[in-house]
Formats: sequence, structure tokens, C-alpha cells
Amino acid sequence: MADEHIIEFRAGDGHACNLIHVSGSREPDRGPVLLVHGAGVRANIFRPPNTTNFVDALLDHGYDVWLENWRASIDLPPCEWTLDDAALFDHPAAVQKVLELTGARTLKAVVHCQGSTSFMLSAVAGLVPQVTTIVTNAVSLHPQVSWISHQKSRYAVPLVGRMTSYLNPQWGDKAQGLVPRLLQGLVKLTHHECANGVCRFSSFTYGTGFPVLWRHENLSERTHEWIRQEFANVPMTFFRQMARCLDAGHLVSHLHGLPADPTAAPPRTEARIAFIAGELNACFKWQSQQASFDWFEHYRPNYHSLHVLGGYGHLDVFIGKNAERDTFPVLIAELDAP
Ligand SMILES: [Zn+2]
Repeated sequence: MADEHIIEFRAGDGHACNLIHVSGSREPDRGPVLLVHGAGVRANIFRPPNTTNFVDALLDHGYDVWLENWRASIDLPPCEWTLDDAALFDHPAAVQKVLELTGARTLKAVVHCQGSTSFMLSAVAGLVPQVTTIVTNAVSLHPQVSWISHQKSRYAVPLVGRMTSYLNPQWGDKAQGLVPRLLQGLVKLTHHECANGVCRFSSFTYGTGFPVLWRHENLSERTHEWIRQEFANVPMTFFRQMARCLDAGHLVSHLHGLPADPTAAPPRTEARIAFIAGELNACFKWQSQQASFDWFEHYRPNYHSLHVLGGYGHLDVFIGKNAERDTFPVLIAELDAP
């Protein structure tokens, strides 16, 4: 049975975030690994109610596991964050804190979706030089979505942004107020793929698909239920930044201290990067990871790696009922690689 401790830390700008340190039955002998969740979820997203989830698998394998609740986490008070805030302030402070607490000089990271885009921004800007290996899922420096999702990002984001500062998949189950009810009605009209309001609303929030964030056939019934409590507020500030990134074909930053175009100069990181993508990802196309892999490969050939996982989508890479068999071995082998 895993044991957990919550350790608070301050991001570079003073924002209160926390780390969850999880210990298993064996003493870790492989060093610290930092897990970074995506937008509108929390650190717990890596711990679905499957027999062996990703955290269990890492503990069993001897890793010292740290989960980062960065400012996008729904465990923290909602805030209007951008990827820049996380890249400049949250991830460098989280990395520093783990090293301070463990006495280790380096660590490895597994980063998902917007935890990945923001962490990769930190990495290429030279803000996390202590990270030696990054396993990234779904998207990193070159977000690419379907044509229809791109149009949605161009035209629906400004429109919805005038009505609300946040979108919240919880509204799929329970909507109070005019705008949440209006959007709930729209989702009910357009999404008929399952009976889970949060699942359907998450598809409306994060792209175009039925569903967007996983393949239903990859989730156990219990995990499909569990996601009801794992999704909440995501601010329009993020969607506005992502819309600009999609137009540019790569991430773009606006905060002083980060390169405006992180792909304009060589990466300021020595980390080896394993790019993971579900072939059936309906949120970000797997080609997003191919593009970032090619970019890194150009600067240091035969160093990084790319895995396109057949039969998998976006988050089911971590929460799928057969992930223990299908995806964890790939992720863990990349963490283990020298
Ligand atoms: Zn569903």
C-alpha cells in the first residue's frame, strides 16, 4: 500500500503549489522521478483505480515518485494561468524542491499534455538543467490538432472567452448559472457517446471527438466513473495561448525570461527526450510529437526517441485498463535508459 506526503512549495513568483511524495513497500534505488499532470486535472490523474497504475508501476520498479501539483491543478484555487507561468515559475521550483528534499543532483520527469508543453518550455529555455531524461506524452513544442479543432480554437475560444473566464467539465454533470447551463445544453445536443456528463463535457472542452481524451474501449468502467471527479476548471487564458501556438505551428511565449519562439534557437538542455504519442489521439495529433522529435533530432541526432502507440489515444496512455501491459513498459524502459 502506497503512503503519501504533501509538501508545499512556492513557485518563482510566490504562487503556492505542492508536491505529493508517494512511497511504496520497497526502498527506492533508482532516483527521483517527477510526474507532471495536464490542464484542468491534478496530480492524482496518474492514479486511476486500476490494479496497477503508473505510480504503482514506478514504485515497484524502484523509482522515488514525486507528483507535482502545478498552478493548473484543480487541487489548488482556480487561477488564470498560462503555459509561460508554469514554465518560468512552477516547474523550475518543483525540480529544485525535489532535489533539495532528496539530496539528488539530477532527476527524471514524465510529463503529460500541458504539463509537457510547459515543462518542455522550461527545458529548452535552460531553466531545468538538472533534468536528465524527459518522457513526454501527447504534445511538446509543436501542437497540431485536426482542422476542425483548429477552427474551433480560432473562432469558438474568443466567443466563449467573452462569456466565461473558465470552462469546467463538471458542468456536464451539474451546471449552475446561465453560461454553464447553456454550454451543458450544447454538449447534450452534440455529444451522445456515453452517459457520463463529465466525459462528454471534457470532449467539448479539449477538442473535437467522441470522446477526445481517451478511447472508451481502453477504459475500465470504474475508471470511466472515476474521471467524473478528476476534471474541473481550466482558464480561457490557456486556450487563448494555445490558439496562438496552433496558428504559429509551435509554442509561443509572452513572458520576459522565456524565448518568444522556443524553436528559434537550439535547445538549452542536455536531457534525453522520449516522445510518446497515441496513434489515435483525438486531442493532439501524434504528428505533434513527430515534429518535436525531428526538431530535437536535428540538433543532436540519434539521441532522442519517438514511440507512436497503436490503439491508444491521449490520456489512456496512463489511465487505460491495459496500460500496465501496453504502455508502462515503454515509458519505464525510456526512464531506465542511460
Ligand atoms: Zn465517456
